Amino acid sequence: MHSVGAPLAPGQKDVPWPCNKEKYIVHFPETREIWSYGSGYGGNALLGKKCFGLRIASNIARDEGWMAEHMLILGVENPSGEKTYVAAAFPSACGKTNFAMLIPPKGFEGWKVWTVGDDIAWIRPDERGLLRAINPEAGFFGVAPGTSVKTNRNAMATLSKNSIFTNVALTPDGGVWWEGMTDEPPAECLDWKGQKWTPAIAKETGAKAAHPNARFTAPASQCPTIDPAWEDPSGVPISAIIFGGRRATTMPLVFQAFNWSSGVYIGATMGSETTAAAAGAVGTVRRDPMAMLPFCGYHMGDYFRHWIKMQRSLTLTPRIFHVNWFRKDADGKFMWPGFAENMRVLKWIVDRTKGRALAQETPVGWMPRYEDMEWSGMELSKEKFEELQKFDREAWRREVIEHEELFIGLHDHLPKEMVYERELLICRL
Ligand code: GDP
Ligand code: MN
Repeated sequence: MHSVGAPLAPGQKDVPWPCNKEKYIVHFPETREIWSYGSGYGGNALLGKKCFGLRIASNIARDEGWMAEHMLILGVENPSGEKTYVAAAFPSACGKTNFAMLIPPKGFEGWKVWTVGDDIAWIRPDERGLLRAINPEAGFFGVAPGTSVKTNRNAMATLSKNSIFTNVALTPDGGVWWEGMTDEPPAECLDWKGQKWTPAIAKETGAKAAHPNARFTAPASQCPTIDPAWEDPSGVPISAIIFGGRRATTMPLVFQAFNWSSGVYIGATMGSETTAAAAGAVGTVRRDPMAMLPFCGYHMGDYFRHWIKMQRSLTLTPRIFHVNWFRKDADGKFMWPGFAENMRVLKWIVDRTKGRALAQETPVGWMPRYEDMEWSGMELSKEKFEELQKFDREAWRREVIEHEELFIGLHDHLPKEMVYERELLICRL
């Protein structure tokens, strides 16, 4: 049940963003009901998405032995036509939509990335014991600012028609605009509040044309890279699960978990620096287990146990990885170009699942050496790569102390595996 809680009295004029001062987004797992009142924000109004697809579905999944996860699903096709599917959980505004629609960079001619979903995965073991995933959504609900032909050409093509926009700027020719869409801003537009906006006004007042969390809602079928199997009810087989967040320090570009339970630990303890889509101060690390903190419909400790148990019904266990596109250097600049170049990390991940790529053991997991990565078409020195991958013992000491803080909050439901994994990590440190 959804209402913005703003009925119009006879003759009353409507407003562009009807809502109520009081907002209640309430979930009843026992009856699988959602009551959403007072808010028209997509996250609260598109009830099939986070509310049902994750919060209620995670309860159904626990009861029925499957998983409802905050994950994108993509397929990697190499030049010989071999296809490998992976699922990745990143917190909101950490790059799921961009990663799901990745266009391979220079040096990866003949490679293709197929999009199955960009936000939610429902995953279950099939009769052969393989994990298979479906995307339960019909479309994409993405952050607009920063989306451009340069950063995500597929998203731009997807939203070119039949799309709904919220809190973007309107251009005089009837189009939309947001920060980062083009290098040149429009000479004039209406900002997200309906006020006149020009580059000169922006310079003077700092006003943004679009809200930082402005969104587009577009049909997935319009995505140029939509996977032929994206609506297959039996889903696609998942070879790897990737966790990741926005971390300026500590977390390397990529590492692989030793096994399923250390992988569950990595997912359980993942963190991200807060951004506009999440509450809290911008720039502090917030623990967000499996990117599910705002979306898990029951106790996180029981959810970790459900993850541990899921592996028992599998004949082939997906490999688990952690990535960080957002590590910064001493000057505060991103050390990794990200976007299309993330393909290089993806290739190493796929090759690891196939037993084709080497790695080096470190206290936190398996890491690629410089020579284990594909560098054709990109310049990155061995020194730069080693900085990106650097394991900083002092930083990891602080990291495990923060893990303990998370665990104290979950103590009465925390599976023993998590406690033992933390002890082992401390021993290796
Ligand atoms: P989602 O909310 O998880 O789907 O995240 P999006 O894909 O919408 O991206 C959120 C923000 O992160 C956008 O501003 C993107 O431009 C930015 N972003 C996405 N991928 C990368 C990357 O690889 N590197 C960097 N530096 N930024 C990225
Ligand atoms: Mn997204």
